Amino acid sequence: MRFDPLLLVYALPLVALWGFHVVNARRKSRQARAVLDENRDAGLTEPPSLHPVIDPAICLGCGACARACPEEKVLGIVDGKAMLVEPTACIGHGACHAACPTGAISLVFGTATRGVDIPVLSPQFETSVPGIFIAGELGGMGLIRNAIEQGCQAVDAVAARSKRFEKAEGVLDLVIVGCGPAGIAASLGAMKYRLSFLTVEQSSLGGTVAHYPRGKVVMTSPATLPIVGDVRFGEVTKERLLSFWTDVLDRTGLAPQFEQRVTAIRSEQDHFSVETLGGIVLARSVLLAIGRRGTPRELGVPGEDLDHVVYRLIDPEQYAGKQVLVVGGGDSALEAAAELAGQPGTHVTLSYRGGAYARARARNRDRVRALVETGRIVEMLESEVRAIFFDRVAIDWAGQVTELPCDAVLICAGGLLPTQFLRDTGIAVETKFGTA
Ligand SMILES: Cc1cc2nc3c(=O)[nH]c(=O)nc-3n(C[C@H](O)[C@H](O)[C@H](O)COP(=O)(O)OP(=O)(O)OC[C@H]3O[C@@H](n4cnc5c(N)ncnc54)[C@H](O)[C@@H]3O)c2cc1C
Repeated sequence: MRFDPLLLVYALPLVALWGFHVVNARRKSRQARAVLDENRDAGLTEPPSLHPVIDPAICLGCGACARACPEEKVLGIVDGKAMLVEPTACIGHGACHAACPTGAISLVFGTATRGVDIPVLSPQFETSVPGIFIAGELGGMGLIRNAIEQGCQAVDAVAARSKRFEKAEGVLDLVIVGCGPAGIAASLGAMKYRLSFLTVEQSSLGGTVAHYPRGKVVMTSPATLPIVGDVRFGEVTKERLLSFWTDVLDRTGLAPQFEQRVTAIRSEQDHFSVETLGGIVLARSVLLAIGRRGTPRELGVPGEDLDHVVYRLIDPEQYAGKQVLVVGGGDSALEAAAELAGQPGTHVTLSYRGGAYARARARNRDRVRALVETGRIVEMLESEVRAIFFDRVAIDWAGQVTELPCDAVLICAGGLLPTQFLRDTGIAVETKFGTA
């Protein structure tokens, strides 16, 4: 058979394309492996809740799952197979499961080593304590749209339950705890049913969304809000979503009580006594829409209640030119300290009670180390804050109490998860170890 030189015209570009694909796939595999190793070294291997488990025997390594995931770099292709390389950043979109052409991905709660506590709920979102309902991410399913739908459905059930009771002076039909998507939707539902209700929120409007990084693009499917009607969010920035919620409050007259944490719920004869930092509220039913991120851990030192003490960094620019103390040694503390050090004229001190940042990712440790070396961050390892004043802080460092001038304190000392709160309230929870 005679060799046709025309074949080369077709074969060469194909070989070049194939070569490019192989080199590119290897580069991406190396990058994904590096992210995976870094997270394993830092012990960041446990996804917070619902997450994919990939069967390597079925996975083709086509990358459809990684491309479908709206969060960046959560999934990667390592050595030809999909892997959850950034487990703690998985928020349970489930898009990977839908995109996999071979059915290699199942979605599960918890892992074999770390169980996830999921409250036991009826189809009407009622807990094992009759009259206490749960909606949104606390029930196990993440995502804004799910939270909205569940908030609405739970209030449908509360409204039906309320008909059983006579109105009583000083006893509300409902207390809604939390003002994220589930709490807002439930509050609008309560307005629609003309229930007497109160919404209390430990922080500000919007729930977890308010704490996303600045400019984060939020992906959310259409949903229907009581009173407001259909909303088509699609892809919006966090800021636009928050301004939408603010507008909803303005238009409807919904008035949640902010900066009011609920600390306990007690069952009385035919109502609940809901303890908030501001006092006690009585209600026939309670809806917990408190998400799963919990309550920031406090240091428990004098002066922590001052206005310039915060627990999350939302907008680093507001600290330009200020003296800021960051407390903590995990990823959030290190990321915040580095962000603040990038602001013009900001003096950053990082105080951590440990001797090394063992629980943080290598990239954050390296970033902080470089900033310490150039003098942009003052590092105080093995130190403990003793007191916070209006214009300074007292820190115990190497056995001596030092006072530093300070305009703002950012405490990143982790969070208290809501599971204990549920148990204290008598709500049954089930621990899931990798259950679908
Ligand atoms: C980084 C990140 C990115 C995400 N991106 C997306 C996305 O693109 N699309 C999407 O659909 N979902 C996304 N999610 C998930 C989504 O934010 C959550 O699923 C959703 O906010 C859950 O709503 P929720 O109302 O159940 O709870 P939350 O939004 O968590 O709100 C709970 C509220 O309850 C308050 N609270 C807690 N305890 C108490 C108490 N004791 N007393 C009073 N108030 C209390 C909290 O302060 C909070 O405001 C993301 C999550 C994260 C962390």
